[in-house]
Amino acid sequence: MPSFELFVEFAVCLSSFSEFLQGKGLSGLYRMSHRLEQEVLALFDDADRHQIAPGTLDGLRSQIEGLTERVIQFIGSNSRPIEHRRARHETEISSDLTPTHRVWVVGNMASQWRALMTQLEYFSIRAEAYPWQRVPPNAEEPTIVLLDTQGMTLDEACEHIKATRTRFAASKLIAAKFLTDFNSLKAALKAGCDFCFAVATPQAVILAKIIELCSNEEEPPYRVLVVEDSLTASKSIQRTLSQSGIESLAVTNPAEVLTGLRSFQPDLILMDMYMPDCTGVEATRVIRQHAEFLSTPVIYLSGDGDMALQVDAMRMGGDHFLTKPFNPVFLNAVVKSKIERYRALRRSMLHDGLTGLLNHRTVKERLAAAVNAASATKGQLAVAMIDIDHFKAVNDKYGHPMGDQVIRSLAWILKQRLRKTDLVGRYGGEEFLVILPGSSADQAFERLDLIRRDFSLIQYALGDTWFDATFSAGVSQLSVPANAEALIKEADEALYDAKNSGRNCVITRV
Ligand code: GH3
Ligand code: MG
Ligand code: MG
Ligand code: MG
Repeated sequence: MPSFELFVEFAVCLSSFSEFLQGKGLSGLYRMSHRLEQEVLALFDDADRHQIAPGTLDGLRSQIEGLTERVIQFIGSNSRPIEHRRARHETEISSDLTPTHRVWVVGNMASQWRALMTQLEYFSIRAEAYPWQRVPPNAEEPTIVLLDTQGMTLDEACEHIKATRTRFAASKLIAAKFLTDFNSLKAALKAGCDFCFAVATPQAVILAKIIELCSNEEEPPYRVLVVEDSLTASKSIQRTLSQSGIESLAVTNPAEVLTGLRSFQPDLILMDMYMPDCTGVEATRVIRQHAEFLSTPVIYLSGDGDMALQVDAMRMGGDHFLTKPFNPVFLNAVVKSKIERYRALRRSMLHDGLTGLLNHRTVKERLAAAVNAASATKGQLAVAMIDIDHFKAVNDKYGHPMGDQVIRSLAWILKQRLRKTDLVGRYGGEEFLVILPGSSADQAFERLDLIRRDFSLIQYALGDTWFDATFSAGVSQLSVPANAEALIKEADEALYDAKNSGRNCVITRV
């Protein structure tokens, strides 16, 4: 039945579109698309029983039209698309960065938010305050809209949330000074709010949330290795995956699976259960002999029925079974959820828990790789070693948790203010290693000295008072012969000089 095939294709496209919108953080458009997707998936049945009532069809059509209209509106109102803003951030090398994110603070108590707004500037986030009645009508969509709902009834607050959500499909909406009982929260989320904070929430917590939302990094596309002897089946799987933006490589002969794994570095393997000369379980057993592929998830594709083989496969560390013919929407959903968990696991292995930066081991590995790359291309490379000044005193005076907040805030400012191509790692407790490929020591100095200045202006709230912190940094650059250890040693020596020169400064060793 050709119309059923089309319906399947429509469902897959819609599901991918929803995910795309979610991935881009366009939560308003995502909501619309997701609602439509849910309705379509509920209609999903098999070809024989498939029958959609004309009334339902009309309902779907009007939702599709509504969504289309909003998407066109959104594209029209955004002269500077997100990719553009990101691309600029990536290539910019000169002195300072123009803000890549904008935050609106909407409410009648602008003065109460001034401190938070100033702090945001240090992280390259531009903040603008507007009273409720004077929100500019034709402005470009901000990354975040913070609504100060103090003094409003629940209904009034929700009306404002709804109106803002209708206007800005892509912005994240934060309601501050909001009621936090179950029903109020439910109403706010339903109205289109993303996060709610109570009256008593310290501004530092809201600041942290805003910075977190602004520092979302884009993930590289998911990659799947398809091991399947039937060319028709693998083509159809690859087509389904690509509709969700998943990259794939197909291997028809299980003997080639190791080569495929090494060259393609997939996040997941889709493994046919029955292949000539080799079952999927046997192929997986071979793969698991190699330590680097021990945790790569494997999903088996099999015809239904063979319980013994399926049990065997799960014992061998299989992660899931899909029976052919598979539902394409379900296939994509399973593949994605497995990859998300796999990547989260890898992230926790490679990154530091407190700051989200690369951990000591990983940043050293990345430095070795960056040194190799730079010497192969005869490119420049600078390294900075950063250490917070008198940090023991920060801990002693203000407590360890406050100390942690200072560490996190330095991590954020480094992430926000350096280029996407720079690498930042937490080298030790309050020590950071920054790798700046393509930069000379002088260029690195300029960049870091601005960050140093702004970091020293950040105010940490402690009860009714404030305190600040500073760091010192040493910078070195790659020389011939290239040597990662020497780079670190020289940066360390320069840092030592910076400490001896009175701290709160950057010193370059060339
Ligand atoms: P200097 O200016 O010479 O660097 O003085 P300092 O007090 O910062 O000296 P040092 O760098 O040797 O001190 C590091 C201190 O950082 C010691 C340790 O208690 C503290 N620290 C290390 N890791 C953490 C952490 O994860 N959280 C907190 N709060 N403190 C930490
Ligand atoms: Mg087969
Ligand atoms: Mg130290
Ligand atoms: Mg220190």
